[in-house]
Amino acid sequence: MRVYNFSAGPSVLPEAVLKRAQDEMLCYKNSGQSVMEMSHRSKEYGEIIASAEALLRKIMNIPENYKVLFLQGGASSQFAMVPLNLMTKNKKADYVVTGAWAKKAYKEACRYGECRVVASSEDKTFSYIPELDASTFDKDADFFHICMNNTIYGTKFPRLPETGDVPLVADMSSCILSEPVDVSKFGVIYAGAQKNMAPAGLTVVIIREDLIGEPQDITPTMFRYSTHAENDSMFNTPPCYCIYVLGLVLEWLDSLGGLEEMKKINEKKAAMLYDYLDSSAMFSATVQGDSRSLMNIPFVTGDADLDKKFIAAATAAGFVNLKGHRSVGGMRASIYNAMPVEGVEALVEFMKKFEKENA
Ligand SMILES: *Cc1c(COP(=O)(O)O)cnc(C)c1O
Repeated sequence: MRVYNFSAGPSVLPEAVLKRAQDEMLCYKNSGQSVMEMSHRSKEYGEIIASAEALLRKIMNIPENYKVLFLQGGASSQFAMVPLNLMTKNKKADYVVTGAWAKKAYKEACRYGECRVVASSEDKTFSYIPELDASTFDKDADFFHICMNNTIYGTKFPRLPETGDVPLVADMSSCILSEPVDVSKFGVIYAGAQKNMAPAGLTVVIIREDLIGEPQDITPTMFRYSTHAENDSMFNTPPCYCIYVLGLVLEWLDSLGGLEEMKKINEKKAAMLYDYLDSSAMFSATVQGDSRSLMNIPFVTGDADLDKKFIAAATAAGFVNLKGHRSVGGMRASIYNAMPVEGVEALVEFMKKFEKENA
């Protein structure tokens, strides 16, 4: 029996996608082979990667002057790749530190140039998105970096910073494809695939073409955006199977009605959980107001032993991976695209029952 999996990542995939992958496991179309066994230079695979890119472009409405790159190394490699490739003019960058990932990105970039923390929410365990004052942004920065959705703390930027001519770079690992975004507002968007796109092993980068320039001298070949852009993500072996599953996930998203529709479903799921948390006498959300994430919802009882009891009872009932990140404690429900509405409904029912029984 399958459980309701609230893991922050790697995370739940749509059941329809898993079934399709299962159907095609031994023999993909007429190829007589699994996608796992195929040469990445074969005609069949060429079609798989091209159609995944085309569908991503359609669903995210990616403008012509942006390249889509299918890389490896996780979002964490982008923490270095972004500064190595973009910190080339004034060797300066602005960072907003809204969580552990944003901080890691900032620290890594400090190795390659002069980085500045424009704002931080570390004073309150990253439980909010700080107000940003555009007049404090460095107009000479080579880029401005944000982590759009903070997976561990459950916050999301309610609006984008106005960075003017300075390219906005966003880590969208845990919110990509959850709702429409205006790609043209960004210089670079990057995301590890294992939250909302595909299995772990693929990193998607969407980059405005004019930003693919000459990187810093020390940049390894594999860390140059130009290497991958010039070779259509085929400089070396790409994460073939992950890209295939991404294609299936995108077909599933397209059949649902794309990102407008996905957003409605995600808002419905998040509202069900937040509404209950806001009305419960036992549980409460750790994030308030317009900083709340649609994808990751941390909550606590205020009593560590009761939290533990809840997590154990939930796991036994088939609601798994609800334990909060060690830096926040309590619980966290990650309700990515592939978590069905029924999964959140069932979780809320379970929480109500637990509250009654443990009041
Ligand atoms: C998971 C996550 C990362 C780390 O991704 P890896 O692919 O494991 O390197 C970075 N940023 C955010 C926002 C994440 O959620």
